[in-house]
Amino acid sequence: MENISPHALVAGAGPAGLMAAEALAAAGLRVTLCDAMASPARKFLLAGRGGLNLTHSEDISAFTARYGDAAQRLAPLLAAFSPSDTRAWCEGLGEPTFIGSSGRVFPKSFKASPLLRAWLRRLAGLGVEFRPRHRFIGWDAEGGARFVSPLGETIARADAAVLAFGGASWPKLGSDGAWRETLASRGVALAPLLPSNCGFDVPWSEHLRQKFAGAPLKSIALSFAAHKVRGEALITEHGIEGGAVYALSPRLRDAIAAHGEALVNIDLRPDIRLESLTARLSRPRGKQSAATFLRKTAGLEPVAVALLREAGALPGDAAPLAALIKNLPLRLTGARPIERAISSAGGVRFSELDETLMLKRMPGVFIAGEMIDWEAPTGGYLLQACLATGAAAGRGAAQWARRGGVGGGVFTGAGFLLRAML
Ligand SMILES: Cc1cc2nc3c(=O)[nH]c(=O)nc-3n(C[C@H](O)[C@H](O)[C@H](O)COP(=O)(O)OP(=O)(O)OC[C@H]3O[C@@H](n4cnc5c(N)ncnc54)[C@H](O)[C@@H]3O)c2cc1C
Repeated sequence: MENISPHALVAGAGPAGLMAAEALAAAGLRVTLCDAMASPARKFLLAGRGGLNLTHSEDISAFTARYGDAAQRLAPLLAAFSPSDTRAWCEGLGEPTFIGSSGRVFPKSFKASPLLRAWLRRLAGLGVEFRPRHRFIGWDAEGGARFVSPLGETIARADAAVLAFGGASWPKLGSDGAWRETLASRGVALAPLLPSNCGFDVPWSEHLRQKFAGAPLKSIALSFAAHKVRGEALITEHGIEGGAVYALSPRLRDAIAAHGEALVNIDLRPDIRLESLTARLSRPRGKQSAATFLRKTAGLEPVAVALLREAGALPGDAAPLAALIKNLPLRLTGARPIERAISSAGGVRFSELDETLMLKRMPGVFIAGEMIDWEAPTGGYLLQACLATGAAAGRGAAQWARRGGVGGGVFTGAGFLLRAML
């Protein structure tokens, strides 16, 4: 039997859990951090591969509004750990940030790995003990947190605990959503985990799939119902993905769930007005092929011409051809699986949490990160909410533990014992 007597348990070592551990340790608590995987923050490292977009520089009220229905609950947490705080925190770890042309904020190195290394060094310096390969599987009869590790089953008791198990996208990186059953069995209300910032299925012709899967659609506008987004997209084997698609993904996902499909419209040349496009397309075509003519007059790439052809025979007259280029219908028939989504929607409902992110049904247990029922577009909003909720849960858990966990919660009073039961 091994007695390590820390005071707080953090389970899940993604950005939310790491930030909770930092807040707890900075408040003077002894912290044990457990994760199912062999190393921490694997999804955070993946996020850094294409350029780690930490947060966004826009005005805080516009920033907060990006969280839709969850904005009101997240607002005080985002005020307490704001995008500016994220930048200062990153800089404090030796990684200065910069604002990209779209207002997005990145570390100058662009990567997650140097930032993570510095972060883990800081946590180790604060005395945070990391236990890899510890998978949380629920609670025992006395309220101890049960983990399966290479040593067998271990029970953790603490004065307070933060759970930060993430959502259910990219499960091979650790966040597989298996925690849902455990919390649901305790009566905690959960919204279903659904793909967010995801791609969609399109019934492409064999020709388009074979020739154009992987081709980017640069500088397009995508419309759905009253919502229009400028950005980029990517044709995939199964359909379409990319920034402009992700931005509309909650609405598209919900429309498909309700009606079986969603009709979006693509403006392939959003920078050219319909009238001037019509005028350009009225020029004599001569002996040019349709593809060459469209490239020269309308600046359309071969993938854009192929998309026009997917809609049927190309109109011969300039006016309907211009109208099609400006308003190309595309039928989406399904959301791509959550396993490949950037993030997930759903999770622990805010109604289950008090303002410190403590579970009302389980005093002493706090929740942080993507486990909570919010969703947001890409642009740094995901990590910012994970860091802000991690900081809030860590601060809340520290206060709770200092008060001695009074209130009859599952982690109260007993100190912390991590016991190997071989
Ligand atoms: C390809 C990709 C690119 C992205 N790029 C960006 C970006 O540039 N900017 C941005 O803001 N966001 C980005 N994101 C999203 C961002 O990475 C996530 O929102 C964020 O990592 C969620 O943090 P989290 O701490 O809540 O959960 P996670 O990062 O998912 O961490 C959860 C941790 O809990 C552990 N865990 C799960 N279950 C258990 C269990 N039962 N027992 C013990 N441990 C468990 C997991 O192993 C994992 O380490 C990207 C995501 C992807 C997939």
